[in-house]
Amino acid sequence: MAHTKKGPLGSGAAPRQACEMSAVTPLNCLLTALPDARRQGKGYRANCPNGHSKAKGSLSFVECADGAVLMHCFACGDTLGVLRTLGLTLADLYPRHLQTCHSRRSLRERRLHYRAVAWSSALTVAAYEASVVLSAAAAIAEGIRLSHEELLRVSVAAERLEDARGVMRG
Ligand SMILES: [Zn+2]
Repeated sequence: MAHTKKGPLGSGAAPRQACEMSAVTPLNCLLTALPDARRQGKGYRANCPNGHSKAKGSLSFVECADGAVLMHCFACGDTLGVLRTLGLTLADLYPRHLQTCHSRRSLRERRLHYRAVAWSSALTVAAYEASVVLSAAAAIAEGIRLSHEELLRVSVAAERLEDARGVMRG
């Protein structure tokens, strides 16, 4: 990966400049990982790296006022899968400066906040994917035979639930 993932965590006194703002913003991180990205309106469009047939220009992302990046693929909708392909995690969509700050106490507070945001995203994914599994189970209970595509979707759900677990383990 071109960007540096680790800040000066646990190294005692961080240089003062590092407290202001990390040079690597989530947007820069994504733009580095997606060299074909181009501006469109307020955000960007890129080819989805997730390996599906409608990948051309399907990945959309935009930087929010707080520096976080909202990302969505209009073809696969698989944000976690896209991130995994790029070697990133949900946490990389949130500003790094949350991890570099003056006192140890506020560092701990910011880490908790940052983790809470990542957990919240993971829970949203988990709740949605659980509903996919539930509807498949309901169909089976009704004696409906799932199609090959539906079975694949259930296995994607299992994969995303595993990803969400990974995010929550930190
Ligand atoms: Zn996609």
